[in-house]
Amino acid sequence: MSKIKVIPCSGIGKVFGLMSRESALKITNELKPNETEIVCLGHIVTGDADAKEKIEGYSCITIDGCPKLCAAKNVAIAGGIVKAQYRTVDEMRNHKGLDAGTGTALTEDGWKIVDELCEKVCLKADEILKEAE
Ligand code: SF4
Repeated sequence: MSKIKVIPCSGIGKVFGLMSRESALKITNELKPNETEIVCLGHIVTGDADAKEKIEGYSCITIDGCPKLCAAKNVAIAGGIVKAQYRTVDEMRNHKGLDAGTGTALTEDGWKIVDELCEKVCLKADEILKEAE
């Protein structure tokens, strides 16, 4: 079975983008390395043939920073099947008042929010894989 592609947005300079990248890396490197793989949004946007081949027709989960949904939109344009899309800004809303960090470093609370999001994404990945069985 092919791995589910996880694509974070490429938001730089704000904590939301960092949270989306850290979440995607944690899921694909640590939590579900056999079931998921990360694909670089930059390569998808620039039309890189390898990146397009990786996602075209495959199940994808996108993790964006904000409502602009750069990852979800561009993955769909490149032919990826966006099975689920997340936004770190929504996760922050569930934790009003917490300081998650900056565009370059997360605080302990920031990591907790990332961990929670990772858990949700992993459950979703299991669901998608089960559907495909
Ligand atoms: S989704 Fe939002 S934070 Fe992410 S790259 Fe796009 S504009 Fe930036």
